[in-house]
Amino acid sequence: MAQVVLKDLIKTYGSVYAVNNVSLTVNDGEFVALVGPSGCGKTTTLNLVAGLIPITGGDIVIGDRVVNDLDPKDRDIAMVFQNYALYPQKSVYNNLAFPLQMRRLPKDEIDRKVRDAAKVLDMTHLLERKPRELSGGQQQRVALGRALVRDPAVFLMDEPLSNLDAKLRVQMRSEIKRFHQDLKATIIYVTHDQLEAVTMADKMAVMNGGFLQQYDTPAQVFAHPLNMFVASFIGSPAMSLVPLEASTANGMSVLTSAEGWALPLSPLNARKVAAAKSKKIVLGARHSTIKLHKSAQPGAIPAKVYTVEPTGDVTFVQAFLSGSLVNISVPPAVHVAPDEQVWLEFDQDRIHLFDGETEMALH
Ligand code: ATP
Repeated sequence: MAQVVLKDLIKTYGSVYAVNNVSLTVNDGEFVALVGPSGCGKTTTLNLVAGLIPITGGDIVIGDRVVNDLDPKDRDIAMVFQNYALYPQKSVYNNLAFPLQMRRLPKDEIDRKVRDAAKVLDMTHLLERKPRELSGGQQQRVALGRALVRDPAVFLMDEPLSNLDAKLRVQMRSEIKRFHQDLKATIIYVTHDQLEAVTMADKMAVMNGGFLQQYDTPAQVFAHPLNMFVASFIGSPAMSLVPLEASTANGMSVLTSAEGWALPLSPLNARKVAAAKSKKIVLGARHSTIKLHKSAQPGAIPAKVYTVEPTGDVTFVQAFLSGSLVNISVPPAVHVAPDEQVWLEFDQDRIHLFDGETEMALH
């Protein structure tokens, strides 16, 4: 396999920067997910690596070659799309064999490669079937197999699971992850589904508005989002973000709300807030780190329940706190109702603080 390096990659359409100065390195054998909301530039980035569209600026290096001006077929990549694009008249065997026949490989070598791929993907028993005789998950496996037989330096996958139903998607997620582990393949995988990225990838590149927002392991991105966009995009339900104001009360650093309550800060959080450029501070907290009380408690802040969603294992509550909706998860035994007054307790060691003006995390 090979590493892929993007250096100051730019793609413009007229005045629109679809990809804006993106630099990142995908190491040999790494699974990297490009993730972000619709229009963030992830598909364009993948298509630039594939050579399906020309770059406006920067460099793309695959292995030790700058591939900027190479045709897709000369880049040593294989693509897997969301629509599997199988040949309906050909058997699975011939769907897999076709790219190799085009390369005029000897028949016995083609047969070996097809059977090896079928074995890896556990579809030897399906080789004689036509695509219409396969389930969606099996068709997607054939599409993966067709990429696999080409033995590329890099696999490029564009939302390969988005046509599958929810259950199958979860199953194929594990299969693609396994595929990566077994083959130690270099994979760049586009998805708008942050959960897919978090569960499958070694590293995730979070994009927004053509810019790379953060590039790190899912654990690191989840625990230390660099800015408010990443904080709210990664994690489900989303991290709650409450705009507040830095102030002091009785010599203590606090965050205050328009309603008049004050949240005292720990010395570490007080230091972070003191380093901010402005007094506007955004408090961030993940649902599992907020405690919900049904009566007033020291240090807990009043909030009003908006929605209650029992899921069986856990109940998700949304409550209004100083005009912002906050997500909280509580055990199913805790019963609250819409419009009920509750008190929320934040864990000082697990809150996130952002500069309200720059939207960057405070360290
Ligand atoms: P989605 O998940 O909806 O596919 P995406 O994150 O993959 O979104 P891109 O398809 O890469 O986003 O698009 C990035 C930006 O570039 C968008 O603003 C889009 O409108 C614009 N764009 C993409 N392709 C073209 C094109 N051929 N002509 C003009 N603008 C384009």
